[in-house]
Amino acid sequence: MVKLAFYLLVLVTSLDLYQGTINGYLSLQDVYTLLDIYKAKYPFLELQTLGKSHFGREIKSIKIPNPNTPKILIIGAHHANELISTTNIFYLLDYILTNTTFKNTREITFIPVLNVDGLSTISDHLKINPNILEIRKNSRPTGCSIQHQGIDLNRNYGFKWAYDEYSSSEDPCNDEYRGTSAFSEKETLAIKNFIFKNTFDSIISYHSYGDYYIRPTGYAHINLTSFPQSHQNLYNNIINILPTNFKFGTVHELLGYYVNGSLMDYLYNLKIFCIEILIGPSIYNSFHPDKNMVKGILESHIEPFMMIVNKTDWNLSVDIIENGRILNVEIKNIGIASSNNTDMIIEFNKDVDVKVIKYQVVFYDKKKIIINIPSIKSENKENIMLIIEGDIRKVNMTIRFEGKQHKGFFKEVMVYGTNPRNNLMIIIIISIVCIASLILMLIVYRYCTKKKEVKFVELAEMQELA
Ligand SMILES: [Zn+2]
Repeated sequence: MVKLAFYLLVLVTSLDLYQGTINGYLSLQDVYTLLDIYKAKYPFLELQTLGKSHFGREIKSIKIPNPNTPKILIIGAHHANELISTTNIFYLLDYILTNTTFKNTREITFIPVLNVDGLSTISDHLKINPNILEIRKNSRPTGCSIQHQGIDLNRNYGFKWAYDEYSSSEDPCNDEYRGTSAFSEKETLAIKNFIFKNTFDSIISYHSYGDYYIRPTGYAHINLTSFPQSHQNLYNNIINILPTNFKFGTVHELLGYYVNGSLMDYLYNLKIFCIEILIGPSIYNSFHPDKNMVKGILESHIEPFMMIVNKTDWNLSVDIIENGRILNVEIKNIGIASSNNTDMIIEFNKDVDVKVIKYQVVFYDKKKIIINIPSIKSENKENIMLIIEGDIRKVNMTIRFEGKQHKGFFKEVMVYGTNPRNNLMIIIIISIVCIASLILMLIVYRYCTKKKEVKFVELAEMQELA
């Protein structure tokens, strides 16, 4: 009955995200209901359960499918009482579906709530107390009171887990208890498996609060200049558009402490672009500010979100290294996302005999050759060898790429180098000249020696006569 009432309310109010049953915020049941509503309204969306919690509750995702496009993962509510992060996930989903063309050019997966057990504990507590229970952990029994039991999911990931005791504790009742081992929790394990199964190009994890944009790493300070160039570029793009009241940096730069076992560091180690965003200004001093403030807060984070979605793309650059008739075409992916399997089209300004080493030629007619290029990961490259044959000593080439997302790229080069057939002709001519010279020398020698012999004979005859 409650579910039906909520369903009707949401339909009547056109997907009002601020009518959840936790003082306006969304309970786990509200989240499940909203996911069903979105699926009914947009049948192309894909609902999935990526795992179950300690208490067997489903961790659900909803995907805007778009095969062969860059893949982005958005995660909400690692921490139970950061309720605005879940509202934000639905706000972003709704924004993409109703306001932008990005739904056709990116594949975006949303996980509204990771900490499903913690959120359920808050809902249950609300039945006996009108105040929201301020818990961040996952409520798994660890021998502590309801406020203190459980594991901090964002301290349970498997890179630098338990690196030190800064903001990560071995005490089961501590708010930042990291668990008995890395990935000891079903929720973090579900994320790990989901990431390996889906190979996301970028991942955003939403928390609250402070309006902080947090980059890796948390366990120690690593300079931004040590990151892959494509990651540096996107972080710098984000810095450039953030309002002055938003802050960007590492946890230590922003909050003054180190942290280990976080999702950010785990993704950093996998070389996946990632950012943790803490939404809501500090002045409200709340993980779930008054619901009248929510829409304004969520709107203020749209521009950076769309920038990250927009910039999660592949970008191929071409360099040509000439070595006589062998052309080394170097293709580098300087974007954040893995490139599609795509065709490289080379056009010549005259008929050219060309051989391609290793790669698949899908079309060739002397003026144009199309070579299939496999997917290239971010910051990786492919080298394609072309051998130009025939009498040509120079040629202009134009190179471009085609795929689902058209990327034009043009390069004109001159091919220098001697035709091997010309080399052979020169060798033959030189050989003929050498042989002819030798024969001539022999003739001259023979002629000279004959003349001398005649002179000797004449001299002998004259002596006899005398
Ligand atoms: Zn958090």
